[in-house]
Amino acid sequence: MSTQMQQLYQQVILDHSRSRIGNADLLGDAATGAHGSSHQINPTCGDEIELETELAGDGGLTVRWSGDGCSISMASASVLSELAGDTTVADMFVIEAKFHELMHSRGTLEGEEEILGDAAAFSGVSKFPARIKCALLSWVAFKDALNQAQTSLEE
Ligand code: ZN
Repeated sequence: MSTQMQQLYQQVILDHSRSRIGNADLLGDAATGAHGSSHQINPTCGDEIELETELAGDGGLTVRWSGDGCSISMASASVLSELAGDTTVADMFVIEAKFHELMHSRGTLEGEEEILGDAAAFSGVSKFPARIKCALLSWVAFKDALNQAQTSLEE
């Protein structure tokens, strides 16, 4: 990866750690549609996140979260929320799997931006084992919350 690319990716992460898309008051029991929530912590870094997913009838979804932690964990939750707002549940499963693969690539994969969007900016993070959990924390919460939301839909 070129230095220019690395700088661009660092800027994307920094911007998201500041803007924190999806960082909002959680609805909790007040949520009406099919929804789920998940609380995840990363004790080695001190990151914490509570994330809610709500499904829309048209296959779309909303992600809201609240939490605190390092810039990588916060930026990752922001990127995830942005992607979720622009896509469908089916596509989010594809994106989630791709992001997981990228994070476990030890720097050998380049992020596919056409699928991952801003999440491709985390490709460099996969070279630092201690930070992978930071980047994956919100995605683990998302998968858990989405599972619950889908289960509540089937009941
Ligand atoms: Zn962290």
